[in-house]
Amino acid sequence: MIPIDFTGKTALVTGVGDNESFAWFISKALKAAGAKVVLACHPRVVGIVESFLSRDTDKESRLLPDGSELKDEKVLACDTAYDTMDDVPPEIKGDRRYAKFADYSIQGMVEAVGKEFGGIDMLIHSIAFSREITKSAKETSRKGYMEALGISAYSLTSLLRYAEPYMADRGASAVGLTYLGGDRVVPYYGGGMSTAKAALQIDAKQLACNLGPKGIRVNLISAGPYASRAARSIRPGEFEKSVDYAASRSPLPRAITPDEVANATLFLCSNLASAVTGHILFVDNGYNVMAV
Ligand code: NAD
Repeated sequence: MIPIDFTGKTALVTGVGDNESFAWFISKALKAAGAKVVLACHPRVVGIVESFLSRDTDKESRLLPDGSELKDEKVLACDTAYDTMDDVPPEIKGDRRYAKFADYSIQGMVEAVGKEFGGIDMLIHSIAFSREITKSAKETSRKGYMEALGISAYSLTSLLRYAEPYMADRGASAVGLTYLGGDRVVPYYGGGMSTAKAALQIDAKQLACNLGPKGIRVNLISAGPYASRAARSIRPGEFEKSVDYAASRSPLPRAITPDEVANATLFLCSNLASAVTGHILFVDNGYNVMAV
């Protein structure tokens, strides 16, 4: 077996909201492979994530296979609704949960990481938000739709635009998370989220083409349903039913684990995938191949 060794490499991971986020497991896998891991979290959850990284009660969730623990190099604030601080409206600037950070824009966060760590080898996009997720497509407002698209899809383009100078010509790789709801109709995936995933999927292919000449690969993982804390909270009791449904109809008849998504992310970030770009890799126990 060819080992995956990220010693000396820097990973910028977005989307850790708690210790059940896909990004948490991805961070652990990257750390276990030797990478320096920088977390970029929504300004409102920075304190929560710092607690998960330090509280004794959460120690078990930080454990890595060799007995050491997930320890970030840094936690930075970033709201992917804003490319630069000039885009931030006054009511957000005045919000005390934001006001404690000087720059939480994509540009500010990425440049801070790139300058401090001398480059970015891996960029993980694990972000999704829709204020109207519980609404059907038919009921979704223009405002909710555009917001979901901006935060969940355009953010990959923006992150890579600002990260390009720090990722160029070092064999860097970006991996994002998508869902089958961007390809086909999944009931209850409204509020602009299905559109955001469809947009993210074609954007990843466009970006792979744009950034390939700089040796930057861009891929997505289409993960099967997983009852993260956030997913469970949207419709309590309902999300678990989709997990069970997919599990019962998948070629591998079980639910996926977040560690399996993290392992596939490691592969896509590594040299084992050096000729893989613009790809969407299903990590869903094969559910996507089924018609009934
Ligand atoms: P999660 O809620 O733990 O992760 C989503 C993250 O997005 C959170 O940390 C949240 O803080 C962040 N976020 C939301 N708005 C933001 C903003 N404006 N700026 C910065 N960050 C923001 O849930 P998860 O299940 O780990 O989802 C991670 C990714 O995986 C998402 O892209 C999701 O669509 C995708 N995915 C999830 C599933 C699933 O079943 N859970 C399946 C396939 C794909």
